[in-house]
Amino acid sequence: MPNIKRPKKPATARKINAAASNENDEIVFLGTGGARYVFAKQLRATGGMLFRIGGRNVLVDPGPESLYRLLTYLPKFNPEKIDAIVLTHKHIDHSADINVYLDVITRGGFNKHGMILAPQDAYGEDGVIYNYLLEFLKKRVVIKEKSTFEIDGLRFTFPIRHEHRVETYGFKLAYAGHTISYITDTKFFDGLIQAYKADIVIMNLIKLGPSEIDHLSIDDCEAIIMGTNPRVAIITHFGMTMIRKGPWNVARQLKEKTGVTVLAAEDGKHYTIEKLLSYGR
Ligand SMILES: [Zn+2]
Repeated sequence: MPNIKRPKKPATARKINAAASNENDEIVFLGTGGARYVFAKQLRATGGMLFRIGGRNVLVDPGPESLYRLLTYLPKFNPEKIDAIVLTHKHIDHSADINVYLDVITRGGFNKHGMILAPQDAYGEDGVIYNYLLEFLKKRVVIKEKSTFEIDGLRFTFPIRHEHRVETYGFKLAYAGHTISYITDTKFFDGLIQAYKADIVIMNLIKLGPSEIDHLSIDDCEAIIMGTNPRVAIITHFGMTMIRKGPWNVARQLKEKTGVTVLAAEDGKHYTIEKLLSYGR
């Protein structure tokens, strides 16, 4: 799978540009696979996403093999530099590596560092986060409906509780006048559209067909794109039916129907925010 490398620039130039234009801000897909069969076979990676924005590093939904993917796709990036981990819900394809990261970013507890944001049911006895690791963090946040949290100018809002088998929240990230939404696993309902209007909308599209229990279908994604009218939409978290069909085919189909640029996320790919925002309406 492609690991897009950008041309190197002299260190001084890179620093000046970063401060002036945020040209280095990016989202890296550490995985675009979802659901049991795909992660069991690692047909696509299942490492979640890394938001590298405004000088901060926020990891989202580190599923199975996430750390391995991070080290592979970003060989020069030190995972200890992760500032925060957002867990949208405790399902294993989103959370399997979370404890590994908590140990890594705190150096096994020797460096009190980092924070975690997760729904209440991800913590505690029936949760997925080890209690002893929480002590090593600077902060632990319980995500609730409509809650917001700011990390050095990155404002995360969790606008609405999703319809999913466990407590689940997507987020809207606002920074420097831009907005990025991540609509994680959910059954479709009208409230999603108002909640997630943004410049960039990322959606989990596991299955081709009509939503059975609690996932978005292609038609649902079409309705979300039409309703949220982003500059660009990105689909990810593909299950078997999507992989067989070819996610890029589905993206093209959605683009034709909605008139909005739709990208099918690729494992290991870096998407710069500047480029994503350049897509027209
Ligand atoms: Zn789920």
